[in-house]
Amino acid sequence: MTSASTAGVVVVGGGQAGFSVVSTLRASGYDSPVTVLAAEPHLPYQRPPLSKKAHTDAVRAELVPESFYRERDIDLRLGDAAISVDTAARTVTTASGTHIPYEHLVLATGARNRPLPAPGAELDSVHALRSLDDALTIGQALTTAREVVVVGGGFIGLELAQVARARGAQVTVVELADRLLSRAVSPQVQEHLRERHEQAGVRILTGTAVRAIEGTKHVRRVVTDRGVLPADLVVYGIGAAPRDELARDAGLAVDDGVIVDAHLRSITDPRVFAVGDCARHPHPYAEGLVRLESVQNATDQGALVGRRIAGSTPVPYTSLPWFWSDQGDIKLQIAGLRMNTDDVYLATGDSPERLAAYAFRDDRLVAVETLNWPAEHLAARRLLEQSAPVCAADLAGSTLGALTRARRAAGVGG
Ligand SMILES: Cc1cc2nc3c(=O)[nH]c(=O)nc-3n(C[C@H](O)[C@H](O)[C@H](O)COP(=O)(O)OP(=O)(O)OC[C@H]3O[C@@H](n4cnc5c(N)ncnc54)[C@H](O)[C@@H]3O)c2cc1C
Repeated sequence: MTSASTAGVVVVGGGQAGFSVVSTLRASGYDSPVTVLAAEPHLPYQRPPLSKKAHTDAVRAELVPESFYRERDIDLRLGDAAISVDTAARTVTTASGTHIPYEHLVLATGARNRPLPAPGAELDSVHALRSLDDALTIGQALTTAREVVVVGGGFIGLELAQVARARGAQVTVVELADRLLSRAVSPQVQEHLRERHEQAGVRILTGTAVRAIEGTKHVRRVVTDRGVLPADLVVYGIGAAPRDELARDAGLAVDDGVIVDAHLRSITDPRVFAVGDCARHPHPYAEGLVRLESVQNATDQGALVGRRIAGSTPVPYTSLPWFWSDQGDIKLQIAGLRMNTDDVYLATGDSPERLAAYAFRDDRLVAVETLNWPAEHLAARRLLEQSAPVCAADLAGSTLGALTRARRAAGVGG
């Protein structure tokens, strides 16, 4: 069965990036058929609130109401996953047995959590967090949990640790690496965050491996290489892997993500684009190809592909990466990409809670991490987007906010 007579755009994945593609297509005047295949039964929603709020009831983080899709003639097929793509025939087959033709295919399949490689990970009350359903399950478990072990000291683990703490549970974070957020932020910010979490009553065990989770049906304890932790709830966040199997099975180039060019087109088939968490792409802020997992990246990539398919002049993807993580009362924000940086300078703001870390590569500012300092984060985004570089001497003893004001006064920069 073929469901549409005119082939238009088929988007696989009803998440942040898929939504950005289809909303941009229609906003840009594209009037051919637009179909979204969404594996989950829910309207497209935002994931960030899932780890930042304590969910007790049906949380709704929907991006837009259902009427948005209806009014724009977007064929949103909830609960019908794409199971195969035939790039020669240009059709997608869905789990319900429908074959949908496409002129352009956009893969926006996101990522999945890496499984916890420990015996006992299959017990009740051991959970990972990615979907709305996961968040509701964890929220329900938190209403009774007293001893929570969070495996993984990354963004999601640290956010959940604070959510569990706010519910009054005893919380221990177990992290294999010697530091929290070991690859994501500078050592200075890692240390600062550790202190802040410990002050909030979260116990942090770095350099510690989980050996097993024990219990009969429910969790009783977590066995680590440095001792046993009592637990009645285990949540883990130990990284994600791109959902790129549909692309791989279709014969498209894949290597820890769908490999695309600077215009986000598959390097194997120019009618196929990949956006968001599932795409590995060139980026002017990186050396080589990168795969980014952030709302900014998903939104900006989706918009770029939507405009391109709707007929605007092709432009490469060059958006400045930025990210945030709310961990209790700590707001961490990152602008730029901290890869192969050589020096990090620190500035403290006008209160002890504020901190900024400036990372340089070859004496050029490439990334800025801030804690509870949104104004400095915004100044960083503006300066990193400008072509005028910032070197260490420009910043010595000062802040980007002050540098921006000085440059404006001197008639330099925006
Ligand atoms: C708990 C959590 C908290 C986060 N917090 C932040 C934050 O604070 N700041 C930030 O910048 N980023 C955050 N992120 C990351 C951000 O949410 C992701 O980078 C973003 O959602 C990526 O968008 P996407 O569309 O690529 O993938 P997703 O939003 O994951 O959407 C992909 C969708 O595709 C569907 N799908 C997969 N395969 C198929 C198929 N074959 N057929 C049909 N559908 C399919 C999936 O079910 C999924 O719904 C967080 C992520 C999580 C999980």
